Amino acid sequence: MINRERMLAEFFELVKITCSTRKEREVADIIKEKLAAMGGQVSEDNTGDIIGGTAGNVFAYFPGTNPGALRILFSAHMDSVEPCAGIQPVLANGVITSDGDTILGADDKAGVAAILEGLRTVIEQDLPRGDIQVIFTVAEEGGLNGSKHLDPARLTADMGFILDSSGAPGKIIITAPGQNQFSITVYGKTAHAGIAPEEGVNAIVVAGHALAALQQGRIDFETTANIGRISGGGATNIVTDKVEITAEARSRNPEKLAAQTKHMVETFETVAAAHGGRADVQVKKSYDPFVLHEDMPVVRICRQAAEALGLPVSLEGTGGGSDANYFNRYGVPSAVLGVGMSKVHTNDEYIKEEHLYQSAELVMSIVRQSAAGRR
Ligand code: ZN
Ligand code: CA
Repeated sequence: MINRERMLAEFFELVKITCSTRKEREVADIIKEKLAAMGGQVSEDNTGDIIGGTAGNVFAYFPGTNPGALRILFSAHMDSVEPCAGIQPVLANGVITSDGDTILGADDKAGVAAILEGLRTVIEQDLPRGDIQVIFTVAEEGGLNGSKHLDPARLTADMGFILDSSGAPGKIIITAPGQNQFSITVYGKTAHAGIAPEEGVNAIVVAGHALAALQQGRIDFETTANIGRISGGGATNIVTDKVEITAEARSRNPEKLAAQTKHMVETFETVAAAHGGRADVQVKKSYDPFVLHEDMPVVRICRQAAEALGLPVSLEGTGGGSDANYFNRYGVPSAVLGVGMSKVHTNDEYIKEEHLYQSAELVMSIVRQSAAGRR
C-alpha cells in the first residue's frame, strides 16, 4: 500500500509550483531532488536549450533487483497549460479542484505524483523489480516538444507506461493518431476592384472554392481534418491577392494520414490553378501515430496490473497526441494510462482523491507484474 497522506501532500506541493510550458526549472529541480532521495541516478538532458526552455527532460534510473526481468519506463510531463500561476488546490468531498481562478494541474501532476509515490513505496518495501527508468518531460503541451527532442539512445526500457490520460485508472490508451500541420498560402492577382476587376484574381474567392472542395471534419472513425485559421485581404477596393490558411489532419492509420494529407495538398493546388490562382502548401509532421495490440506484453501487463487491483479495464483509442507517440516511435512500446484527471485545460479541472491513490497503486502493480516477466 502506498502512503496516501504523503501522496496527497506531495500532489498539493507539486501543483502549487508554477510550471508553464518551457518554464519548468523550479519543478524540475524539486523533482530531481525527490528522485535522488529515492536512490535514483538522476540526470537532465539539454532539451531546454534546444526548445528555448528553462529546463530539460529529467531522467532517473533505478537498477532492478531481478536481473533478466523486464525493464520498464514510467513517464509523465512536468509542464502545465495556462493559467497555472498560484494554483490553490482544494479538497472537498473526495474531489480535488483549484479555487476556480486557475487550472488544477492534475494534467499531469497526477501522473508525476503517482510515479513518485508508487516507486517510492516499491523501493521502501524493497519489492522485487526489474530496471526502472523514469522520464519527466518538459513542454508536452503545445506539441510534445520535450519528448520530440530527447535522445532515443537514452531509453533503456523494453516497454513504457505514460501516466497522462483522463479516465479512471484502468483505462488504457493503446492507439493514438499522428498529426500533420498545414500552412497554406493562396495567391491571386491584385487589381483595382472598381476600375479593372477583370484584371484581378481574388485570392479569397479562390480559397473559397478550394475550401468548398475539401474533405474535412470527421473523415472516418480514425481520421479527422480541420481548418484552423484563415486570414488575408484588405480594403474593399482592392482585389485580394493573398490569403493564408492553417489546417491540420490526424489519423491513427499512417496510410490514411498520408492520403488525407495528399488530398488536402492537391485540392488547394488544383482548385487554385483552375481558378487562375496558385496555392503554396507547406506540410509539417507534428508526430506519428501509434497502435498497440492487445496481445503485446505492454498491454498485457497494464491489464494484469489493473485487474490485480480490481480496477475495471478498458482498452481505448484517443484523438489526441501524447509523449507516447514519441516513445513508441523510438521503439519503446508505450501505453497511456488514465489517472483520473478530468476537464483538463479548464479552470473546472478536477481529480477524485481516490483516483490519485489508485494511480500510484497501479504503478506499484505494474512493477510487480513486470518483475515476473522475462525479457
Ligand atoms: Zn497531459
Ligand atoms: Ca494536456
